[in-house]
Amino acid sequence: MNATFALYRNFLTKYLSPFKWQVFLLGFMLLCSTGLSVYAPRILRDFIDLLVGTAEMAQLLNLAVWFMAIHIARQLAAGVVGYLGESVAWNTTNQLRIDLLRHALGLDLGFFQHHPPGVMLERIDGDTNQLAFFFSQFSIRFLRSVLLLAGILVAVSFEGWLLSVAVFIFMAVAVLVLFRLRSYGVPFNERLREATANLYGFIEERLASLEDIKPLGGSLYILRQMLVFIDRQIFHGRRAFAWGNLMWPTSLVLIGVGTGVIVAWGGYLVLNGTMTVGTIYLLFSYMNLMIWPLEELSHQMEELQKAGGNLVRVQSLLANRSSLEDGTLAEISPLPIKLKFHDVSFQYDADEDQAISNLSFTLEPGRTLGIVGRTGSGKTTVMRLVARLYDPDAGVISLNGIPVSQFRLSFLRTKIGIITQEVQFFRGTLRQNLCMFNPHVSDHRILEAIDHLQLHNWLKSLPEGLDTLLTSNKLALSAGEAQRLALARVFLRNPDIVILDEASARLDPASEMEVDQVLQEFLADKTCIVIAHRLKSIEKADDILIMDQGKKVEFGTREELLATPASRLNQLITLGLE
Ligand code: ATP
Ligand code: MG
Repeated sequence: MNATFALYRNFLTKYLSPFKWQVFLLGFMLLCSTGLSVYAPRILRDFIDLLVGTAEMAQLLNLAVWFMAIHIARQLAAGVVGYLGESVAWNTTNQLRIDLLRHALGLDLGFFQHHPPGVMLERIDGDTNQLAFFFSQFSIRFLRSVLLLAGILVAVSFEGWLLSVAVFIFMAVAVLVLFRLRSYGVPFNERLREATANLYGFIEERLASLEDIKPLGGSLYILRQMLVFIDRQIFHGRRAFAWGNLMWPTSLVLIGVGTGVIVAWGGYLVLNGTMTVGTIYLLFSYMNLMIWPLEELSHQMEELQKAGGNLVRVQSLLANRSSLEDGTLAEISPLPIKLKFHDVSFQYDADEDQAISNLSFTLEPGRTLGIVGRTGSGKTTVMRLVARLYDPDAGVISLNGIPVSQFRLSFLRTKIGIITQEVQFFRGTLRQNLCMFNPHVSDHRILEAIDHLQLHNWLKSLPEGLDTLLTSNKLALSAGEAQRLALARVFLRNPDIVILDEASARLDPASEMEVDQVLQEFLADKTCIVIAHRLKSIEKADDILIMDQGKKVEFGTREELLATPASRLNQLITLGLE
């Protein structure tokens, strides 16, 4: 996809229309400030001509006051332009950030499989920042440059049409030369950005695995690896800066040559008596005034191309549709719920093996299913499919006979509570973390859940109780505490289907027993799946599913399987799966 004119237009109308009055005022102020910039040298021209001719002090004073007033007004207008520009830019791009994040949150997990956090961050914030810059800087600078050059042309045209044609040709040549020069430099800049992104990616990845790197003694190796990335960054950085620095001297040379020609021509006209000395000064001022917009215009043309890239990326993120289509049903009865897998198959990636193949089983209402199987056998995948984080490629998963895809996703997620191996906490208070930022949960209920999970002593040790800030992901929590808090979270949501994925794996045996009792009470009237590595964790299960490589190896009630000497369950017990 290329950045077409329509893309820019749609984007600008969508995000700028709520601020049309600000934009209008901005345009007006821009016009005023450039108009005044072009007008100011004319006063000095009159001043000089008066001095050369027959000046009276009063006239000179009058011009001086005018000149000052115009300068002050121009600075005021420029200030307003700067303020409005930034304000419009941040307001619009914050809205864009919100839109992008909301959109991303609605996408299926399969999407995030191919878009890791670093990339998403770059899309949602990086591209948006660039666009903010585009809005605030490009539009204003570009407009101001164009207005300024146009204003100069108009002003010069009062001094003779030949002169204005010459100035116009000069402007066109200068912009072209500068733009060509700059576009040669673009690849260098791109390579520099790529090298920088690689360096950051490297640092992010290593920092994230610090816990493994340090004890394994990998620090020195990583430092050395980093030097390679830094080296590449310096190499490309030097080239990019060299090219970038070529721009300014080139513009100075261009302007110097232009000024020389115009002033020489002017001198000839003055000698001829067809031009005043003041007018030569005026032309000289205009040539100087041109440096900035010429430089700026060529620079902003490049910015426009970059913004095009940002826009295209933002647009393609917004064009991603979730592969999960939302359903419409928002009620289910009777409770507890019956869960059924019918010939379900699923693979994460087309080029990978099936994570689940032809899986069928029925979990009757209110029963607890224990799933065991080797690592990688597809247990967690079963959980993700029930919670509809992914849709199966074939087969149907149903609740009380209704396919999960027919339920509204938000409704489904209130009915199904999952506790995973990895507990995530967010920066926020303990209260916010427990009720997932839902302000309508009463403290009474939260404390009840905490009591249930025997966390009251731990809570007492916290300086600010429920208002204690959990800084970052589980850093301040032991794994066991985190696991119990995750349980408390699910208690508070009170779903009708609960799936525990190794939820008690990190508890010590004593804690496990304590929590287990509460858990049994909580799960008594719910349909439940317990995924476990240890047979002990599924002692209380009514039914057992044994999986291997995504397939059902055995399914039945626990008693039935225990009573069959040849069952896989009995084999596992005798082999001592523990
Ligand atoms: P464990 O006991 O180690 O938790 P598991 O039984 O829960 O294992 P799953 O996590 O369901 O196993 O994985 C089943 C298969 O799917 C494995 O082969 C795994 O490599 C693959 N898999 C799991 N998650 C993903 C993913 N996000 N992307 C691609 N493949 C995945
Ligand atoms: Mg798992």
